[in-house]
Amino acid sequence: MGKIFRYISDSFDHELIDRPCGVCGDIDSPRYLYVCELGDDAIWDEYGVCAPCINSGRVQKDAYEIDRISEVIVRNSGDLPSLIESFHKIPYVTRSIQVPDWPICCGDWCEFVGHPKDRDSLDGLTKEYQDWRGGPWGTEFNAEYELLPELLEDVCLFVCLNCEKKYHIHGGT
Ligand SMILES: [Zn+2]
Ligand SMILES: [Zn+2]
Repeated sequence: MGKIFRYISDSFDHELIDRPCGVCGDIDSPRYLYVCELGDDAIWDEYGVCAPCINSGRVQKDAYEIDRISEVIVRNSGDLPSLIESFHKIPYVTRSIQVPDWPICCGDWCEFVGHPKDRDSLDGLTKEYQDWRGGPWGTEFNAEYELLPELLEDVCLFVCLNCEKKYHIHGGT
């Protein structure tokens, strides 16, 4: 479990934004990527937002994203209000997941642990990490096949905070 963000490993190297926090204007603590509506005119854009603002729920994802992730929560029998509330507190770690998605296991969001380190670590990855596409995907849990992402960043790795089961999402195009 991350100390900065519950569902993101602290070892993950975030893309930081070189602008003041879009909510409180802070420039001293790191600003994380967050896509939302901010400002007097509620402009939808990419902002840099500090961890305290994100963790206190001062920024919220947009209705489209919440609609889509609600389907994932319901499909995987998660507690809708509580998982939506915690989903707002997850900054944007990747641009490779185009449809809002995030693995749920043991009734909670999994922790994002990063991307495969190198091409070699793709070997056998699908055997270790359950494929996730809005839910556990594929009938054979241990289905082994070759992952050939264009970029290593297209593969996002997760681990359940409770049972330590591992999941991957293959985003990209
Ligand atoms: Zn802030
Ligand atoms: Zn689990």
